[in-house]
Amino acid sequence: MPDDVVTMDKIVALCKRRGFIFASSEIYGGIGSTYDYGHYGVLLKTNVKNEWWRAMLQERDDIVALDSAILQHPKVWEASGHLAGFSDPMVDCRTCKQRFRADHVDHEEMCPAKASLPKTEDRRHDFTEARDFNLMFETTVGPVKDTGSIAYLRPETAQGIFINFKNVLQFARKKPPFGIAQVGKSFRNEITPGNFIFRTREFEQMEMEFFCPPQDAPRWYEEWKATRHAWYTDLGIRPDHLQMREHDADELSHYSSGTADVEYLFPIGWSELEGIANRGNFDLTQHAEHSGEKLEYFDPQTKERYVPHVIEPAAGADRATLAFLVDAYDEEQVDDGDVRTVLKLHPRLAPVKVAVCPLVKKDGQPELAREIFAALRGRMQTEYDEGGSIGKRYRRQDEIGTPWCVTVDHQSLEDRTVTLRDRDSLQQERIAIDELPALLSERLAAPWTSPKLTA
Ligand code: ATP
Repeated sequence: MPDDVVTMDKIVALCKRRGFIFASSEIYGGIGSTYDYGHYGVLLKTNVKNEWWRAMLQERDDIVALDSAILQHPKVWEASGHLAGFSDPMVDCRTCKQRFRADHVDHEEMCPAKASLPKTEDRRHDFTEARDFNLMFETTVGPVKDTGSIAYLRPETAQGIFINFKNVLQFARKKPPFGIAQVGKSFRNEITPGNFIFRTREFEQMEMEFFCPPQDAPRWYEEWKATRHAWYTDLGIRPDHLQMREHDADELSHYSSGTADVEYLFPIGWSELEGIANRGNFDLTQHAEHSGEKLEYFDPQTKERYVPHVIEPAAGADRATLAFLVDAYDEEQVDDGDVRTVLKLHPRLAPVKVAVCPLVKKDGQPELAREIFAALRGRMQTEYDEGGSIGKRYRRQDEIGTPWCVTVDHQSLEDRTVTLRDRDSLQQERIAIDELPALLSERLAAPWTSPKLTA
């Protein structure tokens, strides 16, 4: 079987089949490129976000958390440059009214509204001139729809951090170098969303702004690139499917002295997972000018006053979730001649860590399995699974990426041992029930590498 069997269609199908992710508003015919996360999808994406928080907060002491509002003062977007500059040039088709990004247009593409015309006619789209299209969603605040109350759904979480710089400096007892981290929804009226949850109009970001003395910014930029690259590989992404792409000078924003993208080799090719930028003092200076507030740091020791420079690692929770799904997906020939589909997810990312299965639904096995379920679920996400043949249950757990299955059989009632099945090696060990909670907690905390690397 070829090395990488995964395709985007297979991921979409598995996500639907197993209740990870559904097209939104399906009963009304859907609303393009908008998705709802089902049970396993919620668990998986929550684990991704929790791992990000763990790396940002729990494993260091120089970053604090923030949860700012989605609706912010419209001046925020004036200061950040989003009102004036956050746009893509776009064209409309005069016939079918579809909208396209000017740089993505195929001038030979057939217009669906002209499909019934004779072949001798020009059946291509009839494009308008390109014009700028602001990607921010506009809304009105308050009951009266007048221009005074226009607000925008935030197109990134970062600005909520900059406008709280002063609050955090005052109350978090931090001084540069320190960071403020935030996870939350952002909205962009993308002209060409697509590729499942890779590009949607509503998505979650995981962003951190790291404020440091200006002379230290280049060093922190290098450090954050390495740290963020390691985050993905530590969580199992194969290093040969991950790359850091430094932007060329002509790709950089005018205020940035360095930007790099962490890219993953998706089935659609190398694509951005996360951007890491050295933003200089642009954002704090802009907000200071527009708000009239001083956004700077006074060092009581050196008596120096300065505007910190900022290094920003900005990641997408949905894109990361998609990358982890793609990287984990595998199809394998198993002993009985069948092909099994399996998600070889890092155990800490797996939606369910362990499934407890009685072999049969009688002879006291369900009762013992329920007792084990109760002993495990306080420690980790556990599922009790008694429906269907044991082979079918294992396949189902493989498809949702459950690393371990505990099976209760007739011997379990005699000697209080169970079989512990490993998702990747398919090995089954006999383990004493009393040892299970500690053993599984230990395995969950252990370093892990993708079995695809050692295969
Ligand atoms: P792209 O070039 O793909 O549009 P970007 O460079 O505009 O992305 P940033 O503004 O740097 O993206 O946002 C940081 C991260 O947020 C991206 O790396 C991506 O993971 C995520 N992200 C941005 N836009 C979307 C979107 N429309 N859907 C899903 N995730 C997104």
